[in-house]
Amino acid sequence: MAKHTITLIPGDGIGPEITTAMRRVVEAAGVDIEWQAVDAGEGVMDAYGTPLPEHVIDAIRETRIAIKGPITTPVGTGFRSVNVALRKALDLYVNLRPAFSIAGTGARYDGVDIVIVRENTEDLYAGVEFQEGAPETAELIDWVREHGAGSIRPDSGISLKPISITGSSRIVRWAFEYALANGRSKVTAVHKANILKYSDGLFLKVAREIAEEYAGRMEFEDRIVDMTCMGLVLRPEDFDVMVLPNLYGDIVSDLVAGLVGGLGIAPGANIGEEYAVFEPVHGSAPKYTGKDVANPTAEILSAVLMLRHIGEREPADRILAAVKAVLAEGTAVTYDIKRTNTGSTSGSVGTQAYADAIIGKL
Ligand code: NAD
Repeated sequence: MAKHTITLIPGDGIGPEITTAMRRVVEAAGVDIEWQAVDAGEGVMDAYGTPLPEHVIDAIRETRIAIKGPITTPVGTGFRSVNVALRKALDLYVNLRPAFSIAGTGARYDGVDIVIVRENTEDLYAGVEFQEGAPETAELIDWVREHGAGSIRPDSGISLKPISITGSSRIVRWAFEYALANGRSKVTAVHKANILKYSDGLFLKVAREIAEEYAGRMEFEDRIVDMTCMGLVLRPEDFDVMVLPNLYGDIVSDLVAGLVGGLGIAPGANIGEEYAVFEPVHGSAPKYTGKDVANPTAEILSAVLMLRHIGEREPADRILAAVKAVLAEGTAVTYDIKRTNTGSTSGSVGTQAYADAIIGKL
């Protein structure tokens, strides 16, 4: 029996190609995995009437660990993103987005090593919204005025920003535990508590209380989100593990990905108490489907995160070192990296040839 059983969701667009490359690299590193492939996304819409059939969620419930390619969000069908639905169904409350400099990617900065821990379930993305002009929106606006809570223009749309003690404490605690387990030195909580006293203020209060529990074991600081953005651009080396509510986490994690070379190399994971789903940050890049040109680095680095998560640190480190070696050489790289480094795609290699080069360095 294989040592690990993992659900594999190839996804749409470039997903099948980059997940094939990832799988070949992981297998070449000698990790004993039985892959249970299940399909989600556009291709299953006709058969199941949904891009996320129940058996896909059941498969992850059984194996507990999944790795996926990007999935195209069907437009105009009433379905929200498959990723959002997966996060909800499996209560994946952590969005983990490490960003570290790799030589040869043409990034603007060197020496960046930041881990973003983004809360995934609440804040302005909780999905509690009131449409402009709807009767319930007018009722809400009246209620707010009658209770002396403020004045909202009648032609407003409204999105609520719930932030709870429960949601904040579990994400902050997770960030501290991650920092300890991975030999990091500092956790920074990011907020706008000076303005948003009852939502971000609560997040900050909870973060400070939990930081007390780790005093002497892990450094802690808090920063205001706008100053954080400036600080990240001026002195990214000041940051280590960062924990943020959902909206700031979404924005700041892309900012940090930009510091180290963009979405093509940015890995991610969505993690809960019981389940974890690993995936690149980028989308399905439909125009490159089937052309063997997409860069599988983000997918392969997502597998590195997954291998660490399941205790396979040694092969994870070996794969990361091989990726770094190929990118540093700069010869067998995909079109996007070649173009960033030389201004032309000439001499770039395809998705699978790049994977072969990584395998050659394992
Ligand atoms: P995208 O990330 O697919 O593409 C943005 C740009 O980056 C495009 O120019 C694309 O060609 C390029 N690109 C992306 N990944 C690349 C790679 N690995 N190698 C080389 N080039 C790459 O973003 P989009 O165009 O906004 O979204 C396309 C679809 O993907 C949409 O349906 C969107 O909803 C979906 N999406 C899915 C996920 C996910 O499944 N996690 C995430 C984001 C977007």
